[in-house]
Amino acid sequence: MNLVIFGPPGSGKGTQSERIARHYGMTHLSTGDALRQAIRNRTEVGLRAKAVMEKGELVSDEIVNGVLREIIGQKRGESDGFLFDGYPRNIEQARQLDTICGEFSLSHPSVMNLDVPEENLLLRLTGRRICGQCKATYNIHFQPTRQAGVCDECSGPLIKRADDEPDTVRERLRVYKEESAPVLDYYGELGRLHTLDAAGDSDQVFEKITSIIEENR
Ligand code: AMP
Repeated sequence: MNLVIFGPPGSGKGTQSERIARHYGMTHLSTGDALRQAIRNRTEVGLRAKAVMEKGELVSDEIVNGVLREIIGQKRGESDGFLFDGYPRNIEQARQLDTICGEFSLSHPSVMNLDVPEENLLLRLTGRRICGQCKATYNIHFQPTRQAGVCDECSGPLIKRADDEPDTVRERLRVYKEESAPVLDYYGELGRLHTLDAAGDSDQVFEKITSIIEENR
C-alpha cells in the first residue's frame, strides 16, 4: 500500500505520518525533512533549497523530483509501502508521482486529505516547537512542555523551524491555496481522494485515517 498524506501546512501531516508509518510498517518519505537534512549537510541540493524554503516558497520541481527518486530508489522494498508527506505540492508533481511509481512498479497511491479550518493553522504553525534531539513536536498554545523550551521526552532543547515565523507562515498558506490545493481535483477525478475532518486531536484524526484505510484495503 502506498499513500499520500495531504493538507495545508500545519494540518498535522508530519505527526500523522509518523503514526501511520509505524502502525502499518510503511516508509515515511517527507520531502521537507529530506530538504532540511540536505541543508544541514550543506549538500548542493541543500544550498539551492535553503533561501527558497526560508521564504516559504516551493523548491523547484527539478530538485524535489530528484530527491524523491533518490529516496525511493534507496528504500524501495524495505517496508510495506511508502507514505508520501509534503509531496506532491502541485499538479505537475502529482503527475510525476504516478510516473515514478510506474517506473518503480509501485501501486498508485491513494490520498488522505487532512481538512483543517484556515484560522487554526496560523496558531498551530507559529506555536510549533520541535525537539532538536528526538524530534517530538509540541505547541506553546495547545500542547506546551512541562518546562518551557525543554522536551518532556528526552530533555532536549526545543527549536522553532525557520519557516514557522509569522510572515513565512502566511506565504506558505498562500502558496498552498494557489499551487497545492488544485492537486485535490486531480486525485478527486481519479477517484483516489479521501478527505477527513482533521481539526480534532491527534488520536481522533489517527482513528479516522485508520478506518478509511481499513475500509479501502
Ligand atoms: P514541509 O516540511 O512539508 O512543510 O516543507 C517545508 C518546505 O520545504 C516547503 O515550504 C517547501 O519550501 C519545501 N518543500 C517540501 N516539499 C516540497 C515539494 N514537494 N515541492 C516543493 N517544495 C517542497
